[in-house]
Amino acid sequence: MRDWAKNDQLVIERGEGVYLYDTDGNKYIDGASSLWVTVHGHNKRELNNAIKQQLNKIAHSTLLGLGNVPSIELAEKLVKIAPKGLTRVFYSDDGSTAVEIALKMAFQYWQQQEHQTSNIKLQNKSKIKNPKFKTKFITLKNAYHGDTIGSVSVGGIDLFHKIYRPLLFKSIKVRPGDIPALEKVLKKRRQEIAAMIVEPLIQGAAGMLLQPKGYLKAVRRLCTKYNVLLICDEVATGFGRTGKMFACQHEGVSPDIMCVAKGLTGGYLPVAATLTTEKIYKAFLGRPEENKTFFHGHTYTGNPLGCAAALASLKLFKKEKTLLKMTIIFNKLEEGLKKFRSLDHVADIRQLGLMVGIEIAGFPPKERIGHRVILEARKRGAILRPLGNVIVLMPPLCINDKELRNLLSITYSAIKKATEKPSFFAF
Ligand SMILES: *Cc1c(COP(=O)(O)O)cnc(C)c1O
Repeated sequence: MRDWAKNDQLVIERGEGVYLYDTDGNKYIDGASSLWVTVHGHNKRELNNAIKQQLNKIAHSTLLGLGNVPSIELAEKLVKIAPKGLTRVFYSDDGSTAVEIALKMAFQYWQQQEHQTSNIKLQNKSKIKNPKFKTKFITLKNAYHGDTIGSVSVGGIDLFHKIYRPLLFKSIKVRPGDIPALEKVLKKRRQEIAAMIVEPLIQGAAGMLLQPKGYLKAVRRLCTKYNVLLICDEVATGFGRTGKMFACQHEGVSPDIMCVAKGLTGGYLPVAATLTTEKIYKAFLGRPEENKTFFHGHTYTGNPLGCAAALASLKLFKKEKTLLKMTIIFNKLEEGLKKFRSLDHVADIRQLGLMVGIEIAGFPPKERIGHRVILEARKRGAILRPLGNVIVLMPPLCINDKELRNLLSITYSAIKKATEKPSFFAF
């Protein structure tokens, strides 16, 4: 904050397609999709119109005890495109809230199961609840699921999460890709474990870390085998980012609970959803006095303007054949990234669809090499946002060949420039 306040700040005034314009009229490619959300581009006519039309009807009406039209229509559409078995939609407003809901839902689901009373019998022979029964979560090392306390509790990035440790509930951490380790934990502790939460295929905020092929499928198989719910956090990967509508569809996996947010509204407004199965939904049904209610509701949940934008975005996926077009862009991106390997300080390049992490090595953290690269990129007309020493490329899905080549060429020169002068600290 101190450094940020010292310098002149870049202030964005408007956008058009993949471009952002600052208050001085300078133009930049949005290489970060305005924090991983923009799908069809900025200032997209169809999305603008959908919001305007909805605005002429109503801007907001609560989902607590009432319905609203766009949220119902959107829920129907989401169920149609979601992995098989996900038939119910619970709205909120951000990725973190979608994850909080998933965690609370999984926890409460098990607490409301009939068989949860353990075999422990008190002197008077009445059964008591086993306090440990299905209350824990398995999460992956380096996971990121959002910034609220529950989602931080299942997070695994020390830089972001460590200081809050006294506030967090404990989760069980396993190494991504390590199937035997996971099975060992599940076998031993399945009675304690409510759910496992994963970012499918790729851990975004950790620096675009890819999981081995087949890992998610194995996770699904083991969760089923040991009667543990699987939560897929598709907040970053959802809505085409990886080439399929949802990343878990690459491995034919259906989670028990799926969280979506970022790209849901095409990157226009904060709407999130937690999808789940009929089975979980039914565990919350009962007479009022049974208290099976899921007491969770955010004020702006299912906001009509946001849902209208989301509906228009899903329509555009069909109309503009977004997923089909992207496969061509993926290949161009992969091809274009090859050249980066020859740069001295590029240690690794990881890509899944339009999610790219270029890891820079050889600079101690205090040199803020990632930050230096993005400042160079800015001078050359691209907005990027690094994750530590990993340069992230996450352009809007609508990016065309020419724009992509431009983004790659800017990124290349920016890395080259920022890493070339052997600085005092470099080794
Ligand atoms: C961004 C992100 C979140 C948090 O979403 P917010 O809308 O910022 O709260 C959660 N999970 C993943 C995988 C994310 O990338």
